[in-house]
Amino acid sequence: MTRIPVSGPWITSKEIAYVTDAVTNAWFESHAMYHERFERAFAEYLGVKHAVTLPSCTSGIHLALAALGIGPGDEVVVPDATWIASAAPIHYVGATPVFADIDRDSWCLSAESFEQVITPRTKAVIPVDLYGNMPDLVAIRRIAQARGIAVIEDAAEAHGSELGGRKAGSLGDVGVFSFHGSKTLTTGEGGMLVTDRTDLFERVSCLRDHGRSPGDRFFFNREVAFKYKMSSMQAALGLAQLERIDEIVERKRQIFAWYRARLGEIGDLTLNSEAPGTKNSYWMVTLVVNPQRKLPKRAFMEALSERGIDSRPFFHPLSSIPAYADTPGAKAAAARNTVSYAITPWGINVPSGLNLDEALVDRVCKAVVEILDAHRS
Ligand SMILES: *Cc1c(COP(=O)(O)O)cnc(C)c1O
Repeated sequence: MTRIPVSGPWITSKEIAYVTDAVTNAWFESHAMYHERFERAFAEYLGVKHAVTLPSCTSGIHLALAALGIGPGDEVVVPDATWIASAAPIHYVGATPVFADIDRDSWCLSAESFEQVITPRTKAVIPVDLYGNMPDLVAIRRIAQARGIAVIEDAAEAHGSELGGRKAGSLGDVGVFSFHGSKTLTTGEGGMLVTDRTDLFERVSCLRDHGRSPGDRFFFNREVAFKYKMSSMQAALGLAQLERIDEIVERKRQIFAWYRARLGEIGDLTLNSEAPGTKNSYWMVTLVVNPQRKLPKRAFMEALSERGIDSRPFFHPLSSIPAYADTPGAKAAAARNTVSYAITPWGINVPSGLNLDEALVDRVCKAVVEILDAHRS
């Protein structure tokens, strides 16, 4: 019985052909041809003005914060339940993260919780499109705009998701994506920053290239900055993936539908939600077990592993993990963010890779049912 991995991409002959062409031809005067095509097509897909290829999503959040001029003394609101990459760049610029709670249904930043933690020092908010779902970005934007707070949408997990007909990543002042190997679209490692704001685009373009003005051939750095770029081989891979995004997202939704058909009616089990007006691209199929079953996420993961199935824990609250637990504000966040602390101990991500077929999903679901049956409440 082969092990079922938790994530992974869908690579076809198109990707191989584009990367082969890039490594063969994207040099000399053509060195940027795949970056230009990938950025243009990505911006067009999202309906935004500018897109910038990057080595990661983490670097995108760092650049967004730096371009917005956020620094020491400033506060940035981020949901408590997310990957640490959403928050770590706040430290890179010397600002302070403030962890707000998630919504009980979407598992994304709660607009009310965001509003409650705003202070005169709040300069930005980083809502996260968790596991492919969408926060109430209409409300979050309204609250932010009224107070001059910038919105950085972390769409690392939400390629192809939508809210009110608008694509994930296009709903803030800046949007950022990841193309890490586990993500819905991949370039191996990689990221993209998108924005409609030409001022931010120009600032990001300078900051990500050691403080050079775009097009500078005289190596005349205006300031000390960063070096954040992707290679043309990665850009070629990303372009091929983007040209296939509809079938890739459709496949993610099909995988979720296979899970829902088998697990959707089981009591004590909650799967990813999709509110009206939202399109969830289901980056990771997620199961949250009723605590009364007394099946914490680590035990659930171990039981699946014994059956040859890899899984991942629901993100731990950032305010609870060693990296943050002793920082100022973490204890207050832990007391305040009751939804994050109620849900995350009981959730896991089950295999959601694009290699799955219905038979493999069936095998995972049978294991899930068997494990749950052994933990009756
Ligand atoms: C994967 C991920 C990131 C970081 O992406 P990298 O490309 O690895 O830097 C950021 N935020 C969220 C929510 C993620 O899932």
